[in-house]
Amino acid sequence: MSSFSKICRQDSSSRPDASGTPERGSLLERFNRYNALIFDGRLPVPRLRWSRARTRLGQMACRRKTSLGRTKYYDYTLSVSTYYELTEEQTDDVLIHEMIHYSIAYTGLKDTSPHGVIFRSMMEKINRRFGRHVTVSVNTRDLHAREAQQPADCLVLALEMKDGKCYLSSVNPSAAGRLAATLAQAHEIARYGWYRSEDDFFRNMPRVRSLRGRCVTADFYNSMLHKMTLLK
Ligand SMILES: [Zn+2]
Repeated sequence: MSSFSKICRQDSSSRPDASGTPERGSLLERFNRYNALIFDGRLPVPRLRWSRARTRLGQMACRRKTSLGRTKYYDYTLSVSTYYELTEEQTDDVLIHEMIHYSIAYTGLKDTSPHGVIFRSMMEKINRRFGRHVTVSVNTRDLHAREAQQPADCLVLALEMKDGKCYLSSVNPSAAGRLAATLAQAHEIARYGWYRSEDDFFRNMPRVRSLRGRCVTADFYNSMLHKMTLLK
């Protein structure tokens, strides 16, 4: 059974996400280095992004405009995933792979398929000449994910006031008992509940020790109530 996932996808609609990583600043540096070394410096700097994609290590995205039967590509974005533990060498090979796609699209060459005759001949030439190991696809099963971020398990207080305002707060568990006592005496509260959540919404929120929270819309409030685990 094969489980090869494509190293990339040429796509004119979806955009890679722009989540940052510590080394995000160096992507431009890498691009400039290989543009000069391999592509004679003729590729304009595209949008460059690190992504957290799991199913593809790299991606070239662009917009496409067709008029009078001619297709023009523009607005290029190259992204490289930091999801897996890759060596510098492997990361650069992914970038070079995407740069080959970019070079083909930018110069208007017509390949037989996304990794067609032109792509493969450029790739093999680059591998030979520069001692690279650029491939058409990588089996992501052979790769290890970088240390997964621990899901932040939060104790959440969801409050609905009598005036209709809704609040969500991430509560420091050590203050929960005291807050519960305060809640019993707060007459402006219509209803409330204690929940457990790992949602990103709470990840960067301070864990409060007093009765305060973030005011949210009723729709958002209700959608969060459905996602969280109610504590009895
Ligand atoms: Zn590709």
